[in-house]
Amino acid sequence: MKPVVVVGASLAGMSAVQSMRSGGYGGPVVVLDASPEMPSDRPPLSKQVLAGEWDLDRAALPMARNLAELDVDLRLGLSAVGLDPDSLELSLSDGSMISAGGIVVATGSVARRIPGEVPSGVFVLRTGADALALRDELDRGPDRVLVIGAGFIGAEVAATCRGRGLEVTMVEAAEVPLQRVLPTDMGSFVADLHRNNGVDVRLGVGLDSFLADENGAVRGVALTDGSEIAAQVVVVGIGAVPDVSWLEGSGLELLPPQEGGGIRCDESLRAAPKVLAAGDCASWPNGSFNGERMRVEQWESALEQGTHAGKQMLCEIGAGQDPGPFCTVPWFWSDQYDAKIQMAGRAGPGDEVHVVDGSVSEGRFVALFKRGGECRAALGVNRPRLAIRARMKLAETLAWDSMLELFEP
Ligand SMILES: Cc1cc2nc3c(=O)[nH]c(=O)nc-3n(C[C@H](O)[C@H](O)[C@H](O)COP(=O)(O)OP(=O)(O)OC[C@H]3O[C@@H](n4cnc5c(N)ncnc54)[C@H](O)[C@@H]3O)c2cc1C
Repeated sequence: MKPVVVVGASLAGMSAVQSMRSGGYGGPVVVLDASPEMPSDRPPLSKQVLAGEWDLDRAALPMARNLAELDVDLRLGLSAVGLDPDSLELSLSDGSMISAGGIVVATGSVARRIPGEVPSGVFVLRTGADALALRDELDRGPDRVLVIGAGFIGAEVAATCRGRGLEVTMVEAAEVPLQRVLPTDMGSFVADLHRNNGVDVRLGVGLDSFLADENGAVRGVALTDGSEIAAQVVVVGIGAVPDVSWLEGSGLELLPPQEGGGIRCDESLRAAPKVLAAGDCASWPNGSFNGERMRVEQWESALEQGTHAGKQMLCEIGAGQDPGPFCTVPWFWSDQYDAKIQMAGRAGPGDEVHVVDGSVSEGRFVALFKRGGECRAALGVNRPRLAIRARMKLAETLAWDSMLELFEP
């Protein structure tokens, strides 16, 4: 019997395995991962691990704790370098091939880097190894940490470094933090949150070049406005890109960045018959949002997509029922200082923002994002229960009036 091969042993891939096993599948499963170590669960990396509160072991993926029960042939340090969707064959980095009965592609994303050579002391944060390397440098007590990019990762790194008592400058080329995901006034809230916690926030200015000492170690950066900032540690948090270049020429459709990137899947996460994609690398039409094509780089989505892909795989290979289309309300959380930020749905820069509970100035509120007659997203800051209820409502309906009813006194 040919195995189901899962490419990527992180959250989406391991969720797919878990879901196949809970669906009663007892056949062979091979899991490949390019990383020589079992991937860590990523959210604690920018929070507890970087803060020095947790060992990396504590940030293990939940499924990594019961690998024996999952009964997988786990091959770490081995990459898939090609995939033939017709023959279901995968070519591997050691020159070998695997012939599969079905394939789940869960290769996630990688941190976007500044092109060209960078001095030592410049970090990205994606993997457990990245977190440990950066933490070692923070342990040395640099005079200043410079964070390039005020997206969620950059903002969390800045908050964690402040929590460690370090001086931090955060530089963002856009006019407000999180411009890609939040309308301007909500991004301003995030900028104020950091300023109020002692971060030197520089907006609307980009990186011109790194400054290095004679040993090739970073000593600061020059910015596009002509200013220079001295820093011994620089963290580049300028987003992630789906890790799908290995699929170029495979026949699977890869979307260009302007269409969100990733592997084009149907509503059931199928990229081809018996070839599914899940997690950060998958783009699919989300039935919960009128079929809008989405690629979501969020923990909960990777877990849910992996689980769905596992069920769908059983259907594809004749070992389970059709689970129907994959529909979800994206859900994200971020912990920065004493702010628990939670977001359900998908906001866009042009959305109208309505604060329907609490107040932004007190740092406890729920904001709804309106487009046409629809509520597209809800943002909760230190309002966990309401944020969850808003997510449940979005899963029922996007109708604006229905959402407002939830917040009526
Ligand atoms: C520091 C950090 C903090 C985060 N915090 C939050 C948070 O607070 N809240 C939230 O909602 N989300 C958060 N996220 C996002 C969330 O963790 C990701 O969306 C999630 O990890 C995606 O899981 P995945 O399995 O799709 O991909 P990944 O976790 O990227 O895993 C993909 C795996 O595939 C492997 N791989 C890649 N290419 C190949 C290949 N060709 N062959 C074999 N293996 C391959 C990689 O080695 C990797 O292990 C955070 C992410 C990071 C980096």
